Amino acid sequence: MRFATVEYKGKTFVGSVDKSDGVTPLMTREGVPVSDLMEVIRNQSRFDSLYALSGEPIALPALKLKAPLPVPVRNIMCVGKNYREHAKEFTASGFDSSASSAADAIPTAPIIFTKMPQSVIGPDEPILYPTGVSDQLDYEAELAVVIGKAGRGIPLASTMEHVWGYTIVNDVTARDLQAKHKQWFLGKSMDTFAPMGPWCVTADEVDLPSAGIRCWVNGELRQDAKFTDLIFDIPTLISTISAGISLMPGDIIATGTPAGVGIGFNPPRFLAKGDMISMEVDGIGRLTNPVR
Ligand code: MG
Repeated sequence: MRFATVEYKGKTFVGSVDKSDGVTPLMTREGVPVSDLMEVIRNQSRFDSLYALSGEPIALPALKLKAPLPVPVRNIMCVGKNYREHAKEFTASGFDSSASSAADAIPTAPIIFTKMPQSVIGPDEPILYPTGVSDQLDYEAELAVVIGKAGRGIPLASTMEHVWGYTIVNDVTARDLQAKHKQWFLGKSMDTFAPMGPWCVTADEVDLPSAGIRCWVNGELRQDAKFTDLIFDIPTLISTISAGISLMPGDIIATGTPAGVGIGFNPPRFLAKGDMISMEVDGIGRLTNPVR
């Protein structure tokens, strides 16, 4: 199923998005609208006994889509340099404080950092240009995993049982701050730096081995990759993170961005106010945000 968090006639609720882009509200069996997708994720094993779709589908254009998880329960976990060609372009750009030479470009273990829950915005909401703080803004299209089942020390073989679904995250980055402060957090976690959506798709509906991700800036294709190109695949990421940190329902892991970001160009092509960024993942949908 595709679950969206929407605003309609002043109310926020969770709905299921059908093939023709109609959104049908999700209700509890007692007839109470579900307002927080976290409730559905926590109760995934009892979904059919607790919830039902109710009423006629509402056409997407009549609604305002919010981020599917507007304020995630914890920081979004993100993976740095998880596609070979991107790792090389990033290290070659001179902005990569984690590697001093081309020989260091490909990580030997996953690089994990986080973004604040409050950096999340929804589809079509503006990425606010942090004037006076950074003037080197970049985009990063990423597949994001939504954890459904808690776990610590999850063995590789059972990692996928912990995945509830997927969404798209734009890991917006201030390259100047990322380089200057060495640790990536400040450059990655500013307000509005985590556009997410357009909705969450449950794991059973996404065929990752055949799926890919693409990103356009003002209609120009910049990123285009398959998930089979990930250096560290989703089982490895889940097993690595959960080795010492308990994963919880609603945790989000953004799996890294492929080649084609702004600093991959020479000279770099940073974002400017008025730019429009669109990203698409097969089986999920398209997330678009302007820079304002
Ligand atoms: Mg990233």
